[in-house]
Amino acid sequence: MAASDAKIGRRFEGKVAIVTASTQGIGLAIAERLGLEGAAVVISSRKQKNVDEAAEKLRAKGIEVLGLVCHVSNEQQRKSLIDKTVQKYGKIDVVVSNAAANPSVDPILETQGSVLDKLWEINVKASILLLQDAAPHLQKGSSIVFISSIAGYQPQASMAMYGVTKTALLGLTKALATEMAPNTRVNCVAPGFVPTHFADFLVKSDTIRNSMEESTLLKRLGTTEDMAAATAFLASDDASYITGETLVVAGGIPSRL
Ligand code: NAP
Repeated sequence: MAASDAKIGRRFEGKVAIVTASTQGIGLAIAERLGLEGAAVVISSRKQKNVDEAAEKLRAKGIEVLGLVCHVSNEQQRKSLIDKTVQKYGKIDVVVSNAAANPSVDPILETQGSVLDKLWEINVKASILLLQDAAPHLQKGSSIVFISSIAGYQPQASMAMYGVTKTALLGLTKALATEMAPNTRVNCVAPGFVPTHFADFLVKSDTIRNSMEESTLLKRLGTTEDMAAATAFLASDDASYITGETLVVAGGIPSRL
């Protein structure tokens, strides 16, 4: 059975979920899944046009949506994301921190300081600052999910420093799970290869795509719905005894024991 055919429940009825970087790709699929399961979803990204289009798509599926512009490294836009969510819905139950940048293919020792700053800023620091703003509004039983990557376990040469920032999210998951317990659970999803705009090398080259498919045990790339299903599981009460964990969703690509 394909993931998209899976029976969708209503685990997020009455819940409010913020998903960052959610106007396309994995973030949009997560927002859709949480919304189809009953959540009011707050979607955002850098461009108003993308926000409007994504919000329309979700509304057309009967989902309650608030769409806002939020570049995750913009302090005012982060604060506004939280403030407007609370003004409209009065609380926050789920935060999925999904934004990332991969601005360089240079080896780490040749990566400029300004690029290292950007990677740290968007991929790690912005998640922490957003949660600082969200924390006072998080409900008992709330849930945070970070989106890392299998590159966090084994940084590849062409995206080495990006991989290291994703490794940092594995540690951040553990650290914040301790800090935010027992009222809030903190978990992480580490996707494998998913053909999206972000991973357009998978879409552009059949050769690369085929070799990536072959490198998985399940002989296919991941779908955005696969990532959404795993995220929804961790965010839901089905995972109520799980915190500080990372779920690898990568079709069996080697990652860790
Ligand atoms: P995607 O399809 O390219 O979507 C990226 C989304 O993020 C868009 O909605 C974009 O909209 C928004 N965005 C980009 N920069 C942003 C910023 N600074 N602040 C706020 N929003 C921003 O990417 P994706 O593949 O779904 O990636 C999502 C996450 O999955 C990332 O954390 C990535 O590292 C992780 N991941 C992806 C793969 C993969 O194979 N695709 C594998 C492992 C991990 P705007 O342009 O309007 O801002």
